[in-house]
Amino acid sequence: MKDNKKIFHFYTLVWALFLVVLLSALYRMYGDEHIVNYTGVVRGCTQKVILGETLGNQDEELIDYVDTVITDLIEASQGFNSFGEDDNGYQEQLVAINELWSEIKLEIENFRISGDYDYLYELSEEHYQAADDLVHYVEEVAEEELEQFFTIFSISFVITICLFFYQFYRNRRELIKKTNYDPITNIYSQIGFMNKLEDKLKSRDSKKFILIGIDIVNFKVYNHRYDHAFADRILKGVGDALLECCGENGICGRINGDNFKLFVENKEDIITVLDTCLREKLLQSGLALISQQIEFIFSAYAISDDKEETYSILSKVNLAHSYAKTTGLNGVIWYDESFVTRLRLEDEYTSRLEEAIKNKEFKMYLQPQLNLQSMIVSSAEALVRWEPQRGHIIYPNEFIKLYEDKKLISLLDYYMLEEVCIYLVENNLMKQHFKIAINFSRVTLDEEDFLDKFNHIIHKYEVDPSALEIEMTETSLSQIESATISKLNTLSNKGITITMDDFGAGYSNITLLAELPLNILKLDREFLNKLDTTNMPDILTSVIAMAHNIDLKVVCEGVETEENIVFLKNSGCDYVQGYYIHRPMPASKFTEKYIL
Ligand code: C2E
Ligand code: CA
Ligand code: CA
Repeated sequence: MKDNKKIFHFYTLVWALFLVVLLSALYRMYGDEHIVNYTGVVRGCTQKVILGETLGNQDEELIDYVDTVITDLIEASQGFNSFGEDDNGYQEQLVAINELWSEIKLEIENFRISGDYDYLYELSEEHYQAADDLVHYVEEVAEEELEQFFTIFSISFVITICLFFYQFYRNRRELIKKTNYDPITNIYSQIGFMNKLEDKLKSRDSKKFILIGIDIVNFKVYNHRYDHAFADRILKGVGDALLECCGENGICGRINGDNFKLFVENKEDIITVLDTCLREKLLQSGLALISQQIEFIFSAYAISDDKEETYSILSKVNLAHSYAKTTGLNGVIWYDESFVTRLRLEDEYTSRLEEAIKNKEFKMYLQPQLNLQSMIVSSAEALVRWEPQRGHIIYPNEFIKLYEDKKLISLLDYYMLEEVCIYLVENNLMKQHFKIAINFSRVTLDEEDFLDKFNHIIHKYEVDPSALEIEMTETSLSQIESATISKLNTLSNKGITITMDDFGAGYSNITLLAELPLNILKLDREFLNKLDTTNMPDILTSVIAMAHNIDLKVVCEGVETEENIVFLKNSGCDYVQGYYIHRPMPASKFTEKYIL
């Protein structure tokens, strides 16, 4: 900006100088013209005076006029000042003409007395010649000056025009650079990348290319935790890595924030190679810890149709990318046939939810929990199954997360609560102190009217809260706000059992155990899966003891063998749930088997 101002001032000055030079040249030309005219006047008038004398017409006025003009020319006044005093040629000739004129004036006196014309004629010839020479001299000098002026003017004009265009193109280049390149990473900006991608796609040959979207998981955390300069170093590291991966034919760009795109030749394991390269570059940039911790989201589309339009390619990658972002699926999402099928299915699941609830297509399955002390099944977990048609079962892993992402899960959670309530009442289970656990999503719990809706349902069926258990996964309870904790406290105060589900599956946050009104710790089945790993039996036993120390009962899920049961009983575990006891089964079957 400052530079542009300077350049503007420079050009204004140059053009002002030009104007001054032009005006002074015009003024000088006008002066030259004046001198040429009046030297001619001196020449003509002198001849007229002499001719008049010879014819007997004495013209004193004309003599005075010639005197005045000659004096003006000598004194360089009245606009006759274009020739400098230093122009000796002009001055000498002027002096000579003046001397001749003085002599002519003397000779006119003689002629008037003597009538002798010869010498006057001689002087007249001489004067005419001298005046004529002066006219030519002035004309020549003026022409020379004009030529010089035009040469200088033309050269300067060409130079400034060249300078102007040089500056214009330099500015344009800088502007193009600014819009096409990202100042933080020095790779293409969004505009640059899009332009280049268009070119690349137009000129692509038989080679197969892939467009990849890259995003840093939780990048804003780095911005908050460190300063912006540090976050910029991460971006620069990513930019460097992408540049290295580009190869000869590839291009890469920072689209915005921590969003990057890479267009490269498709190779096997390209995403793994890219991930390794990204981490290496961050390591080389002195960001060793970040290079280990950082997680990337990749979306990729292998372009198969040589004629596919740019916007179509881009929109496919963008769709896969936003899917990865909203679903929180780290790693890579490929835009391929299975992705399209999944999207279609998810669309169908989303649009059909309310109708399916109305049609009672969702079925409550129950999985028994065995009390290891009494060896009696005194509780069960309600698990949903979707049966859109008879014999076609869709399992919760296919739709729970989708409904959570779309913030629709509460519809299903309240539906299941209602189904459980109906089941408890219909089978008179409250009197038998039978308890049913229901899975609740954090999304449902976070809704403002959660308690109202929950209470409304249990009051509607007059269910004793002590027959209900709420399971919330450990992961869903992380970063819980005080308002949500207070909702759990309200439920707990009513006598509802609160269970932390899948304990040990995620990043365990032990402080949560102190913050929440928990009654049961439900150990993830991974504990049993890894039971033959050294230390795992001890870890499991210690976790159970720790839970008992803080007055929590322990349920262990995923029990698939008798050995599991024996081990858990010996370790002091309170309840077990798993295929060994029974798989989740339709409510009617559960009633037959465990209630009647
Ligand atoms: P979860 O709450 O951890 O449920 C236990 C899952 O483990 C169930 O899968 C169950 O069928 C399975 N399982 C039980 N015993 C064994 C065993 O011995 N071995 C193995 N390998 N698996 C066993 P399911 O029913 O497919 O449910 C998957 C998840 O879906 C549940 O995990 C729960 O998080 C969610 N879910 C199920 N029903 C509901 C619901 O009504 N509402 C909500 N919000 N989530 C639900
Ligand atoms: Ca559960
Ligand atoms: Ca579980």
